[in-house]
Amino acid sequence: MKQSMTLIPTLREVPADAEIKSHQLLLRAGYMRQNSSGVYSFMPLGKKVLQKVEAIVREEMDNAGAVELLMPALQQAEFWQESGRWYTYGPELMRLKDRNNREFALGATHEEVITSLIRDEVKSYKRLPLTLYQIQTKFRDEKRPRFGLLRGREFIMKDAYSFHASQESLDEVYNRLYQAYSNVFARCGLNFRAVIADSGAMGGKDTHEFMVLSDIGEDTIAYSDSSDYAANVEMAPVITRYEKSEEAEAALEKVHTPGQKSIEEVSAFLDTDATKCIKTLLFQVDDKQVVVLVRGDHEVNDIKLKNYYNASVVELAEPEATKEVLGCAIGSLGPIGVSDGIEVIADAAVEAIVNGVTGANEEDYHYINVNPGRDFTVTAYVDLRFIQEGDLSPDGNGTIQFAKGIEVGHVFKLGTRYSEAMNAVYLDENGRTQPMIMGCYGIGVSRTVAAIAEQFNDEKGLVWPGNIAPYQVHLIPVNMKDETQATVGEELYSELKAAGFDVLMDDRQERAGVKFADSDLIGLPIRVTVGKKAAEGILEVKIRKSGEVVEVNRSELAAKIR
Ligand code: ATP
Ligand code: MG
Ligand code: MG
Ligand code: MG
Repeated sequence: MKQSMTLIPTLREVPADAEIKSHQLLLRAGYMRQNSSGVYSFMPLGKKVLQKVEAIVREEMDNAGAVELLMPALQQAEFWQESGRWYTYGPELMRLKDRNNREFALGATHEEVITSLIRDEVKSYKRLPLTLYQIQTKFRDEKRPRFGLLRGREFIMKDAYSFHASQESLDEVYNRLYQAYSNVFARCGLNFRAVIADSGAMGGKDTHEFMVLSDIGEDTIAYSDSSDYAANVEMAPVITRYEKSEEAEAALEKVHTPGQKSIEEVSAFLDTDATKCIKTLLFQVDDKQVVVLVRGDHEVNDIKLKNYYNASVVELAEPEATKEVLGCAIGSLGPIGVSDGIEVIADAAVEAIVNGVTGANEEDYHYINVNPGRDFTVTAYVDLRFIQEGDLSPDGNGTIQFAKGIEVGHVFKLGTRYSEAMNAVYLDENGRTQPMIMGCYGIGVSRTVAAIAEQFNDEKGLVWPGNIAPYQVHLIPVNMKDETQATVGEELYSELKAAGFDVLMDDRQERAGVKFADSDLIGLPIRVTVGKKAAEGILEVKIRKSGEVVEVNRSELAAKIR
């Protein structure tokens, strides 16, 4: 590609509101441009990098036995109503109406669409298991879009969904995709760690996040210094405890809350006596219904609870405290619901509540018109992050350390959460109807591009790994007005391309200083400079990463840089 033909709008200055390296450099080096908050255009170079990452993702997914398809981004509301998430997902889901006033969502994720698709197309155990994936634009109206591609409102995700007739089959595919994800991030050159995402069940195996270790990460990871143990502390949030005032007791209205499950239903589902262990706190915030369960019984399976309520399970450090809790913080729902960092949502929700609902997990035992600030006063902040640096690791090996991470991938065993809600069933070997068992698996493809840029840069610009760089070679005739340099440049451009190199040639009539500065900023692995010595058949090769410079005979160039 010749620079005169493409568009690489580099900037000398650091853009004002770009706080982190990857955001600054991707803008400065002309890889992307902001359109509106959290919405970006990928410029030609950015698009190439995106394609490189996508290609790696595709290869690893295909190798793991997943098959690509493409589903619509425009999703009818009915699917989301069936799953219940139309009411629970909250403002992160972008909603719109068509000309006939029918409601739609822009795909934030695709559990609903794929579940409806598969329930129509797959009827027998003979067609299972099945793993499908797509690479597509997702929309989430993030409360705080920031850090460029790291948290956009429109971004590229690879999302996969698997369907099974048995738990063992789900476990097998989950493990295979877990390995595929490890391969993807290793091939991207990232320093990452797979962490247990549900630290409510420290040691649980049902959901993992892939975290790129980075100081600018928004997640905190607790990991053992001498084993593989690593967990996201996100699922164990700081809970704000509220106590009801005496006036409130008289003023509040007790009501039946329709969405609420009876204690019998919960007990049957969990196969345990739920009265012993659960307290439910529920707030209605606009159209978002949020449930927080506080449990005292350690035997309860968190994942089951979560799927059942589509909500978070939180555990108080001191079980006694559960009795006093009347208000709530809001848990992260991970890939099956809203999540944006617990404390943020909690604060926002508490601020937003003017007509909250709260109550215990009993029928006909809920208060409406609850205003936490008025009816409940904050008495304590219960710190649920009970693990501290230096504590024994939960797996018994080594001590706990903390690090910051960027969540680039997430694998999750969904179970029958969606298939039951949306009636995605199959006939088993005995002709009995069974709900399909599901898994879901996401990779933030555009976020991964930013994570790579964040890890691979220096004071001069980006320093892409060879397999991610938009082009392998930056060919720079220093002075395009010099006939020899221009001619040698053109010839080398053709020769290198013929030899299989992906070449970007700076054929602009710019000063040498500008060309070199842009070249460093853009960050291709190899720079070939055609300067004054070109007349004698000598070129200069510079390795971007090490800064090493060597003179090379033109005849040896291809062999030298291969
Ligand atoms: P986060 O905790 O960062 O908000 P999430 O848990 O909500 O992410 P998932 O629902 O698990 O995200 O989606 C799968 C993947 O999509 C994430 O692991 C992440 O890499 C990516 N992703 C999620 N939200 C965004 C976003 N706003 N911008 C870019 N990538 C995102
Ligand atoms: Mg996630
Ligand atoms: Mg998350
Ligand atoms: Mg999120």
